[in-house]
Amino acid sequence: MNDSQRPPVQGSLIDALVRAQATGTVEIIDLTNELSADIAVLRLPAPYINLHDFSLEPVAAFDERAPLWAHHNFRMGEHVGTHVDAPAHWITGRDGKHIHELAPTRLIGPAVVLDFVAEARADADWCLEIADVQQWERTYGPLPPNCWVLLRTGWDAYARDPEKSLNADQHGPHTPGVSPAAAEWLSQREEVSGFGVETVGIDAGLAAGFEPAFPVHHYLLGADKYGVTSLQNLDQLPPTGALIVVAPLPIKNGTAAPARVFAIVERPGAVAGQHPASPSSSDGDRR
Ligand SMILES: [Zn+2]
Repeated sequence: MNDSQRPPVQGSLIDALVRAQATGTVEIIDLTNELSADIAVLRLPAPYINLHDFSLEPVAAFDERAPLWAHHNFRMGEHVGTHVDAPAHWITGRDGKHIHELAPTRLIGPAVVLDFVAEARADADWCLEIADVQQWERTYGPLPPNCWVLLRTGWDAYARDPEKSLNADQHGPHTPGVSPAAAEWLSQREEVSGFGVETVGIDAGLAAGFEPAFPVHHYLLGADKYGVTSLQNLDQLPPTGALIVVAPLPIKNGTAAPARVFAIVERPGAVAGQHPASPSSSDGDRR
């Protein structure tokens, strides 16, 4: 037996995690939107060029082309669905890291959930301010090192309703985001590894008209922070204490990539038997 075949050492951190998952005291929450043709994606106004939506092309399915298997091709832009923006996506980070170069240790870290569903419901153009994060820190403690700041706005309810998700009128899309001052302030926080949203882009809908334009892209990607969009199920995370696992595909020299995103959440009161396949688990709740 080589080292990789050995079970976790009893009493080790990994052993404790494996046991906690088996008993349901640790739950894995899927924060990823499905990839399909009908999901909400960013729409750039003319003259900008939009990326391809997701599409799936059947190649063979247990037929004369392939009696024993089924398989597909798919096509999509880098920035479609739940995806991670790399620093090299934006002009301020153009000399920075591409998606295949993101540091794995920074893709797994403590999740900080800022809940502003009520504010975003009252005003679709609502933006996070510095004082909002400072208030969170007074309540829950300072932002932990290597954290992902996740902005909960309730927009995940529209993940497969493009019209409601983009919420556009003649002035452009109306979706919540972050003020330029708050984006700059977050980009200067060493503790922050990444920033996540439920909307299709990491900036507010009207952010093209902000100064600077698209401040989250401008400041955070310019400061070697990572972004993740189209998150789901943030309502199942505590404000602090969960661990997020952000796993973008390592497209060589990509500016972004679709990602599977999980949160590991402690459920101290959970009882064995209610996990993980029961209808009450997160899979059953997916919209
Ligand atoms: Zn993007």
